[in-house]
Amino acid sequence: MNARDLLSARRALCVQPHYDDNDLAAGGTFAALADAGVEVHYLTATDDLVGVLDPSLSDEEAGARLRAEQAQAGAEIGVTEQHWLGLPDAGPYDYYALRNGVVRHIRRLRPELVFTCDPWLPYEAHSDHLRVGRAVAEACMLHKHRRLRLDPALEAAWEPHEIHAVGFYFTTAPNLCFDTSATRERKYRALEAYRTQLSDDEIRFLQQGLAGMEQRWAADEPFSHGEALKVLPPGRLHVNLLPELA
Ligand SMILES: [Zn+2]
Repeated sequence: MNARDLLSARRALCVQPHYDDNDLAAGGTFAALADAGVEVHYLTATDDLVGVLDPSLSDEEAGARLRAEQAQAGAEIGVTEQHWLGLPDAGPYDYYALRNGVVRHIRRLRPELVFTCDPWLPYEAHSDHLRVGRAVAEACMLHKHRRLRLDPALEAAWEPHEIHAVGFYFTTAPNLCFDTSATRERKYRALEAYRTQLSDDEIRFLQQGLAGMEQRWAADEPFSHGEALKVLPPGRLHVNLLPELA
């Protein structure tokens, strides 16, 4: 699976723990996919209320601001539609509720590409990132099995489809550097929407830090900036008996 394969997909589902992870990690990639005509769907797993800076906001006010900021950033990237699971940020929630919520979106949207954070990132301590990455990886294996019955009424008319690739961002084991030279500025602008959780200084710090990382990732590439991804076929996500695909 190379960058051209990703760009020729019909639909991508990008599952993030929090409202800004997709854009922070791979917003340049998703903007390029959108430009190429790929439908780009974002699914946010948690309500993301823990990181809200203003303690005087009610949960309802904060949630409305987060969604408005996501819409603003999404317009910059070219996101087709935003979806939410609404699980409590950093809180207790059932793993199977999370995984099955992802399976339902996979079955309904039928993406060829699924993206999420790498749950095997060394020293990743945030439980939402660990749980979401693992749940998405498992959902990409299990979604097509008819005996995983979640919504019998809907599944009566449902036919399984194939996911071609799972792309993990926030990874230290990339196997693809995606050229974001032409789209990186849109990612930086998208990040400026996230004012409910980030100060002006933090946004500037992130923009500068990301630009440096993107240049380092692309050091051996014929382009100036890129985003690091670990892209695997779903068959590699269980017992790993397909070494020829490494
Ligand atoms: Zn996050």
